[in-house]
Amino acid sequence: MSTLDALIELQDLDQFAEMFADPANVSRLRRLGYAVEKREGLERERERLVGSLERRWVVLYERSLARYGRGLTAVRARVCQGCFITLPTSAAPPPGEAMVHLCEGCARLLYWA
Ligand SMILES: [Zn+2]
Repeated sequence: MSTLDALIELQDLDQFAEMFADPANVSRLRRLGYAVEKREGLERERERLVGSLERRWVVLYERSLARYGRGLTAVRARVCQGCFITLPTSAAPPPGEAMVHLCEGCARLLYWA
């Protein structure tokens, strides 16, 4: 799994965990018929993902998450979707490749695909 894929999966898990942390969401999901008793599974999966990533990415992800409530932010048309600065052309990944990048404007961890 690439660094980007692992970070995207980590963000998905963290958003699930945040949703489960709100009892109103949990009872809404229960009413809709979802099984919401599997939180230990999420935590184990999170540990596995964190363990598979280089420490520096985990540190940057956690910092972004703590500061902005999201660990990863998208880049669209060279614009950081967190602070809306235009990133230099030189920062773009080669065509056909995805890349993780640190925004020089806001220090969010960006995924650039
Ligand atoms: Zn930014």
